[in-house]
Amino acid sequence: MSNPRKLVFRIVMILLMVVSIPLSTNQAQGEIKVENATVAVSFGKSITFAAKIKSPLPIKQASLLFRGVNETDTRVETVQVAEDGSVSFTYDASLNMFPPFSQIVFWFQVTLADDKTYTSEPITSPYNDNRFPWRKMTRSSVTVYWYAGDDTFGAAALDAAAQGMLAIDEFIPISQTDPVDIYIYSNISDLQTTLMLGGEEWVGGSASPKLGVVLVAVAPGASQSIEMEREIPHELTHVMLYRSLGSKYEGQPIWLLEGIATMMELSPNPDYARALEIASQNNSLLALDDLCVSFPADAGNAFLAYAQSQSFVTYIRETYGIAGLGRLTNAYGDGFSCELGATNALGTPLSQLDSRWRESVLGQNAAGVAARNLLPFILLMMLVLVVPIWGAIDMLHKRRKRAIQSK
Ligand SMILES: [Zn+2]
Repeated sequence: MSNPRKLVFRIVMILLMVVSIPLSTNQAQGEIKVENATVAVSFGKSITFAAKIKSPLPIKQASLLFRGVNETDTRVETVQVAEDGSVSFTYDASLNMFPPFSQIVFWFQVTLADDKTYTSEPITSPYNDNRFPWRKMTRSSVTVYWYAGDDTFGAAALDAAAQGMLAIDEFIPISQTDPVDIYIYSNISDLQTTLMLGGEEWVGGSASPKLGVVLVAVAPGASQSIEMEREIPHELTHVMLYRSLGSKYEGQPIWLLEGIATMMELSPNPDYARALEIASQNNSLLALDDLCVSFPADAGNAFLAYAQSQSFVTYIRETYGIAGLGRLTNAYGDGFSCELGATNALGTPLSQLDSRWRESVLGQNAAGVAARNLLPFILLMMLVLVVPIWGAIDMLHKRRKRAIQSK
């Protein structure tokens, strides 16, 4: 009954929107032309925009507008226009940062002698970390960039990416055509500065899933392949998960995203198992609930968080299959809470799944786990019970005393 009404309502709304667009903007396009536009990037320092604006009437005022391609905030800067229409503006990229290897979109807004405002066509320009002499190599949709190491280094990185893609493809259907760029820094401090200059906190490897860009640190040498097989598939998984989930990516618990990505590492870190064992013995495992929104900041607990997430997600995969994990990402994407997403997708609340994982993977005793969870309540019950019992005993004691005295 309500469907045809809804349809009519939608059509009316769409018509209103279409009609209101030309009415709401007093701007014209196409009257001005932007020629010889250039963007000179000094990564982390400055971005210089230059162009020549051609217009049929004299220019009264001109502004440069720009933003990161995935941003919503547009920066607006007034620019001086020379006699011949030349404009130039240098932006301080050390104060207001753009992510490395992102795209900047810019355009001009010009008020002419007729007091009308004209807008130029947008132009997109890359904002790359150009502090290093990048070499590059492409295979199908993947391009690797590196600056230390020879051609075999680049080829090894492409091999790790290809193996990673094969493993990920079993799990998430991935597009072989959407490009992915992998930048390999030769050491962690280079990568760290890049992320800092891009306004991000350092988290080891890094992926900008929206941009399809992966950044890792791998030094050329004997262990390069092992490191590549660990880091590249991990970061690629973030990109592919984002491409598969879209806006639902943001709603996922961190333990789930990182657990899946860590599970995809081709040469798993042997220290993960050890960290788990020690934490289990010391009763210092992290509460899964705390890993929903963020990971710990200190390196030791962050390492444990990855180890725990990897083991927990692997347990879910082995118990409920890939389909179960798919239902889980869907439930979280639909906005279910950390605890209830698991109930919705797998029929078991997260806290109970956590206990089962501790029991079957870490060999913790179920009664022990339950007792630990109940410990605060047991203490409280004891307090509640002990106080009246103690009072009763005291009373009996007094009565007996009185009885003896009266004898
Ligand atoms: Zn990750």
